[in-house]
Amino acid sequence: MARTMNDIVIAGAGQAGARAAEALRARGFKGSITMIGEEPHPPYERPQLSKSLLQSSDAPVAYIKQAADWTRTLDIRIETGAAAIDCDADRRIVSTADGRDFRFDRLLLATGTRPRRLSALEGAGIEVQYLRSVEDALRFRRHIQARSRIAIVGGGVIGLEAACAAARSGCHVTVIESEERLLARAFPPLVSALVADRHRSHGVTFVFGATVTGSTSRSVNLSNGADIAADLVLVGVGVTPSAELAVRLGLPAAEGIAVDACGRTVVPDIFCAGDAALQWSRCHGRAPI
Ligand SMILES: Cc1cc2nc3c(=O)[nH]c(=O)nc-3n(C[C@H](O)[C@H](O)[C@H](O)COP(=O)(O)OP(=O)(O)OC[C@H]3O[C@@H](n4cnc5c(N)ncnc54)[C@H](O)[C@@H]3O)c2cc1C
Repeated sequence: MARTMNDIVIAGAGQAGARAAEALRARGFKGSITMIGEEPHPPYERPQLSKSLLQSSDAPVAYIKQAADWTRTLDIRIETGAAAIDCDADRRIVSTADGRDFRFDRLLLATGTRPRRLSALEGAGIEVQYLRSVEDALRFRRHIQARSRIAIVGGGVIGLEAACAAARSGCHVTVIESEERLLARAFPPLVSALVADRHRSHGVTFVFGATVTGSTSRSVNLSNGADIAADLVLVGVGVTPSAELAVRLGLPAAEGIAVDACGRTVVPDIFCAGDAALQWSRCHGRAPI
């Protein structure tokens, strides 16, 4: 007997989950769609967190849709503040931390990534923060407004955008980059130099070729022997996939949840999309699963 495909559950109410839900309705899917998200908000645009949200004290959060539009207009159930912690592929049930079970015919994992943490800074008393959520961005914005001394670990795109916003607001900003130049993996030296000069013109200071070895409550210690005075350290040193559910399902997920070119995992009717997915790429030569 053919199985029904009436109930779709999406674990992760971020950009990929939201766009998948919208696309299902746009393509005429008439069954139930439930989005389960651990954050207390309906899905929002994450790029704003290092841009508009930092640049103005009254910039509003850009939601992809308001909660009511998901439910009323698209008939999509959205459960916020609910972390999916387990999944039974045989019984087709996702369980959340608050004890609820959600039955599915098909499941989309859209759990994104989490910032890589820097253990050298843990427990020394200095305030450390990451930039991943609305709450992170609003907290960083308060520091910018207070004109704090800010050390930023990682001269990648997010670190540089945060550095620019902070320096333009009058903060004293130092970016610590372990490579000898900015964005070294993606761009040639000429571009690195242009980007660095542009940031210097806004008052950003750079330390290249050094890593963080520890901190005091008011400074960051570096491998080159320097101590950088700071009230706050923002860490932007990459991300790791949020793959706990995939691990519960026994899926390989070290670098991301492996999927084929159609987003299928090896478990029937379980898919993955967005930053959590490790998808076959002709360009990068990754093998399909
Ligand atoms: C500060 C910042 C700036 C960026 N700027 C740009 C940019 O300019 N251009 C660009 O292309 N990209 C940018 N990105 C990257 C872009 O935001 C991501 O590629 C995009 O958000 C990925 O979407 P996603 O849905 O896969 O993951 P996310 O948007 O991270 O959503 C995943 C969601 O799943 C939730 N979740 C995780 N685990 C669970 C669980 N077990 N149960 C329930 N919910 C769970 C998370 O809390 C999160 O809400 C930026 C990212 C950041 C952080």
